[in-house]
Amino acid sequence: MKNGKHSFVLFGGDYNPDQWDRATIEEDMRLFKKAGVNTVTLPVFSWAKLEPEEGVYHFEWLDEILELLWANQIQVILSTPTSAQPAWLSAKYPEVLPVDIAGRKRTHGMRVFFCVNSEKYRERAAAIAAVMAGRYKDYPGLLGWHVANEYGTYCYCENCQKKFRLWLKKQYRTLENLNEKWHTAFWGRTLTSFEEIMLPTELNDDYRFNPAIQLDYMRFVTASTIECYENEARILKKATPELPVFTNISGYIKKLNQFELVSHMDVAGWDNYPSPTDERSFSALKHDIMRALKDGKSYYVVEQSPNQQNWQPYNKLKRPGELRKIAYQGLARGADSCLYFQMRQSIGGQEKFHGALISHSGRDDTRIFKECMDLGNELQLLDGSFVAGRTAAEVGILFDWDNWWALELCSGPTQDMNYLEQVHHYYKPFYYQNIPVDIIKQTSDFSKYKTIVAPLLYMIKEGVAERLEQFVKAGGTLIATYMTGYVDENDRCIYGAYPGQLRDVLGIWVEEVDALFPEERNYIRVKDGHEPQNSYESSFLCDVLHTESAQVIAEYTEDFYAGMPAVTVNCYGQGKAYYIGTQTEQDYLSSLVRNICDEKGHSLIFEFKGELEITSRENENGIFTFIINHGSQTGEIDLKNKRYKNILDQKSYSGKIQISSAQVMVLLGEGEESL
Ligand SMILES: [Zn+2]
Repeated sequence: MKNGKHSFVLFGGDYNPDQWDRATIEEDMRLFKKAGVNTVTLPVFSWAKLEPEEGVYHFEWLDEILELLWANQIQVILSTPTSAQPAWLSAKYPEVLPVDIAGRKRTHGMRVFFCVNSEKYRERAAAIAAVMAGRYKDYPGLLGWHVANEYGTYCYCENCQKKFRLWLKKQYRTLENLNEKWHTAFWGRTLTSFEEIMLPTELNDDYRFNPAIQLDYMRFVTASTIECYENEARILKKATPELPVFTNISGYIKKLNQFELVSHMDVAGWDNYPSPTDERSFSALKHDIMRALKDGKSYYVVEQSPNQQNWQPYNKLKRPGELRKIAYQGLARGADSCLYFQMRQSIGGQEKFHGALISHSGRDDTRIFKECMDLGNELQLLDGSFVAGRTAAEVGILFDWDNWWALELCSGPTQDMNYLEQVHHYYKPFYYQNIPVDIIKQTSDFSKYKTIVAPLLYMIKEGVAERLEQFVKAGGTLIATYMTGYVDENDRCIYGAYPGQLRDVLGIWVEEVDALFPEERNYIRVKDGHEPQNSYESSFLCDVLHTESAQVIAEYTEDFYAGMPAVTVNCYGQGKAYYIGTQTEQDYLSSLVRNICDEKGHSLIFEFKGELEITSRENENGIFTFIINHGSQTGEIDLKNKRYKNILDQKSYSGKIQISSAQVMVLLGEGEESL
């Protein structure tokens, strides 16, 4: 259990015993055992109970709970309770409360509602973290430490302004440099002192604010949040160097640069709350992003709802079997846990209708309790065989927070810019064809991959274009799209035509980009004849582009740029570089991706039919292949002449197998079938 290693899948989740009496808590233990719960996280929101007045601590009730959990062999992730400061703290030291983008000082009430730069907040948070570290460092059931909860508050107070100026001074050293990098000459915004730098608030008219300043403010908030996290994490790490310390990332991942934040954590953890209307590929993409945060290492799903959420516009029940499919999707893509918010449904407060293992009925014969219980007991049988397993992928998809922020801060070319949706658009053809991909950073080692997809690589960081060029020259395939190669790290446009430094490798130049109205369409005609159709819809943006050394593989058929290139390929060194100048419909992308994968020899794990998700994880115990049937119809996989054991039913399989609706298999290779 030590050294942060465990040989089982963590199953359980957030437990809030401070809301219940002793009899209820004892009943919880019985129900937890019955449901196969092996791990709980606590006391996430108990600061007010643990420290009812400044410096006065009451941990006795938590001691009792921990004793009870240990007696029931339930492991614990201890959370510092610092995401919800007590009312006395906000009243006594108003500096801890944030100022919002409209310049309004906010009042006490919400959770995750404090200024990450408040010295008083940090002082009191470190103090309670130190008390907890000292008290529980030798607790035998301690699996790890979870700091605060879902960081992501943007504050615009005077203290943040002061610290932002200091941060900028450190980044840019001189005002001259800052003025140049922010291109303040535009609209005569030249600064003559660091003291003149104002925060990008609505008081300054957000729409007209220089995007370079907004971009730096987002970087600054990430840096400040990391300091705030480290303020507690370093105390916990010092007390228990062998245990993992981390925090849970909100499912809304945009606000903070998670590559930066998670680099300070021992393991990535996130909260998976898909909307009922999300495609399954969208959750899969987020799981793959989480796996990327520690370069392919496994991560924790720290929260998800066992049933409906309460804060969606329409809170659909999870359909029978749905929670199992969602759990296995995480486990299949790199998670070592299946943790829920929450164990027992609260009777009041903002989330009283949010799903829970134990509902308001308190019964163990509810549909959700029974589904959780079946899953918990099934996961125990798996014995954690695939824990810490990694996924092998030959395709990398570039993903970057600075690029995300800069693209969406842009005034133009379209108000519909949504980077995550765009990345999803290019992720889907791989996902639905079950071709494994890794999400990669601009700084990742490109040589591990045969194909790299770079959706909307608007901002190209220093050295990245050269490395992509090298990658293609050495035989790699690059797929780039519209909105590529526009700006540097300060959001200043390059001189010379787009796609800037990637112009040679792509063999094209972009003269203009046309933004289409939401309902407007153009069409592309495919020239090479390999596609099932000749013509496909295109929408969103249409580049007006010219080839230099590239070949045209599809051209527009409408508007004044009819007959001009829409999709191109350039042979460069030993490799190829594709450019997709407009958002095409999925059928075209799927076909293009299929052709590229065939050419590159990206093999499928198994040939399949139906709405199956298939992915693998490998560790010292072997290669574990997960198959999930998300469809309502029976699907099929072809294992050919290899023999596999399904570790869920302990039976052997080979050849063609039918996979019924909602069925899950976890296959481990046993060798060749004897003829
Ligand atoms: Zn602040």
